[in-house]
Amino acid sequence: DTIGGNFDRTVHAFGERDALVDRASGRRWTYAEMAEDVNALALGLLDLGIDKGDRVGIWAPNLPEWTLTQYATAKIGAILVNINPAYRSHELEFVLNQAGVKLLVAADRFKTSDYAAMIEEVRPKCSAMGHVVLIGDDRWSRLLEAGRAADSSLLAAKQAALSPDDPINIQYTSGTTGFPKGATLSHHNILNNGFFVGELINYSDADRVCLSVPFYHCFGMVMGNLACTSHGSCMVIPAQSFEPKATLDAVQAERCTSLYGVPTMFIAELAEPGFASYDLATLRTGIMAGSPCPVEVMKQVIERMGMAEVSICYGMTETSPVSTQTRADDSVERRVSTVGRVGPHLEVKVVDPETGLTVPRGEPGELCTRGYSVMLGYWEQDDKTAEAIDKARWMHTGDLAIMDGDGYVTITGRIKDMVIRGGENLYPREIEEFLYTHPDILDAQVIGVPDARYGEELMAWVRMREGAEPLTAEALREFCTGKLAHHKIPRYVHVVDEFPMTVTGKVRKIEMREKAVELLG
Ligand code: ATP
Ligand code: MG
Repeated sequence: DTIGGNFDRTVHAFGERDALVDRASGRRWTYAEMAEDVNALALGLLDLGIDKGDRVGIWAPNLPEWTLTQYATAKIGAILVNINPAYRSHELEFVLNQAGVKLLVAADRFKTSDYAAMIEEVRPKCSAMGHVVLIGDDRWSRLLEAGRAADSSLLAAKQAALSPDDPINIQYTSGTTGFPKGATLSHHNILNNGFFVGELINYSDADRVCLSVPFYHCFGMVMGNLACTSHGSCMVIPAQSFEPKATLDAVQAERCTSLYGVPTMFIAELAEPGFASYDLATLRTGIMAGSPCPVEVMKQVIERMGMAEVSICYGMTETSPVSTQTRADDSVERRVSTVGRVGPHLEVKVVDPETGLTVPRGEPGELCTRGYSVMLGYWEQDDKTAEAIDKARWMHTGDLAIMDGDGYVTITGRIKDMVIRGGENLYPREIEEFLYTHPDILDAQVIGVPDARYGEELMAWVRMREGAEPLTAEALREFCTGKLAHHKIPRYVHVVDEFPMTVTGKVRKIEMREKAVELLG
């Protein structure tokens, strides 16, 4: 099916149910109301001369207009290009030109950034970009008006001519390990992925999902929006993204049944002063994903947030994104400590990165995935596509994993983050898990730093709980001694308030390693 076709079916079945709630502005849409705006916007885009295959950039934080644009472009087969709201003019110009964006839909500003000014700055250098529409100003209203006045049979004809295998979306990876790459995804890729993610956490029209994860990333637009619209569930946008209080407010006020986040967001919500005074009793499920999910944090999410059925998903932008997921009927132990089993209609295997041969169950290797979810390729980067997807269409994820005898997968880290100390492979993840058990440590990350004697040494970066004394290297060693093997005990400790992060909330170890080299002089 196409995204537009699937959306129409939901509107038909659940027209009167809530579809979208924007906490910042107080606006809300039922599915029937959302369909009206989506169709008007789609017709407005056609009227502007945007057609199948044209790239439409969207540069905005989580606004309801983001979601409307997502479905409007899908209906006419235009390719939505998600642009990171944290980008500044230089990065914006790169994406607009790399993807050949013809129309840019953007917020006029975001936090302290003047988007409108940055767009004017890069506009002369982006020759393909014929139109800019700022959300909320009169160009946006004119687009909707033009659409409302247009002949709606035009849209039906457009929709009928689309194929599920057409490219519909270019999503840039988070840029955790380097420069972001644009993954080109089809209707088939992301619609199925969103649908199955929703199936495995039993979404229905009774669910209200708090989306504090960015729309520009697959976590928000696929696991969030597409999972909701393919099941008739309601999308709730907190008043501020990545802000623990606004998130908890949204869950309470909108009686959300599901909450999403990367581990750092859940850590912040659990540590929010006043956490105990929130009524979160409606929460049933949710998704933690995006980076390693500490067992301790998962346990607290189940116990203190009442998200008894919370699920961990593992995936990457290039695979639409989810490849493995825990299910509500998995044992709690497996639900907190693994990334679950392979999703429906997908395959996973763990291979020796050097030989490419599948390793025995229980042994670490590179995780590879295959199936409907694998992207069409990186946008205009065929060489990079060929490095990532082999001839048999296996996606090589760059992640290290272990699969047990029952098919449960544990992610042990990224190949790029593995530390080789004195010839021994060390997995930072394992050490981080242990550091989380320290009562004064709020959050911990472990990296490798160059060392003359061992090649690499371990450095722990820690964020302390409020009121706790900064941890010294000596105190840390003492805490680890007798519990971790000698060679896994970090030699250095660096106490910080915040880790360097991507906008998707992932810790940028690449930046930490650069900084560590400076620190060690
Ligand atoms: P880039 O590819 O630009 O360096 P990125 O890999 O972080 O950035 P994404 O596609 O957003 O970009 O993230 C996918 C990666 O996130 C995976 O390859 C994996 O390393 C990590 N990841 C996702 N989910 C999990 C999880 N549940 N547990 C551990 N790691 C995860
Ligand atoms: Mg990646």
